[in-house]
Amino acid sequence: MKKLSNLPMYLGDMLHKSIYTLLSHYRFKELPPIETIEKHIRNRLNQSYRYSRDKQLWHQKPKEIPLLRELVYGEEIGRETIEDMIHRLQQCLGNLYESRSFQDAMYGNHINLYESEQFHAFRFNEIKIYVVMDLLYQDEKRDKWIIVDWKTGRESMEDRNQLALYSLYLHEKDNIPHHKIKVRNEYLASGEQRENSIQTNDLDQVNEIMLMSIIQMLQYMEDVKRNKPVSINLFEKSEHPKKCSMCNFRSMCERDI
Ligand code: SF4
Repeated sequence: MKKLSNLPMYLGDMLHKSIYTLLSHYRFKELPPIETIEKHIRNRLNQSYRYSRDKQLWHQKPKEIPLLRELVYGEEIGRETIEDMIHRLQQCLGNLYESRSFQDAMYGNHINLYESEQFHAFRFNEIKIYVVMDLLYQDEKRDKWIIVDWKTGRESMEDRNQLALYSLYLHEKDNIPHHKIKVRNEYLASGEQRENSIQTNDLDQVNEIMLMSIIQMLQYMEDVKRNKPVSINLFEKSEHPKKCSMCNFRSMCERDI
């Protein structure tokens, strides 16, 4: 079930992987045409669609291709949804090439590219917190560290908290002062960009969120050291049918929609 995805999520995943490839192999070089990347991503989406539609093929599918939750649970993916996805893919790629963060990272002078899509962890109240920044670079001219998050969906209230967490991590790990860190969301579908400095109230809020999440998680742990959860029967079912309709674990919890 962990290997299930859905169409928007898999599209976002493929876009992130493509950006990582461009940053790793094309820096200061001529970029491949957008159509080439679009074709590659569409091929992958088509493959995933084909495997997901046919139960007989589920066990033959390559590891890197997820099954699509919609099809696994017997729903249809209509023509309109597919056209929306193709439109979103084209918008995202076009806006990516134009975006300030991508231009800085690929061709910027006085830019030190530090990392992209690497797993890190730090401890908060003895709990390991994992962090994966989409892009981190230093702009020597501005004397700033820029943390970038690519978004392929809509803006959400959580976006700023997520970046505040990354800022906290960078400060803890490398002792970078908060006033030297800028966080930036690149909304690729719309071409919008939001750059902010992280303020004390952002850090307070993210500390509070992490604390509350940890308290909630611990309620469902029988043995923290062995990472053993309590029995599945002790997990309350969601009261929101919409949430259940989008959940990968529906078959496990036997929730009727
Ligand atoms: S389907 Fe089950 S696990 Fe998923 S959100 Fe609903 S109640 Fe929770």
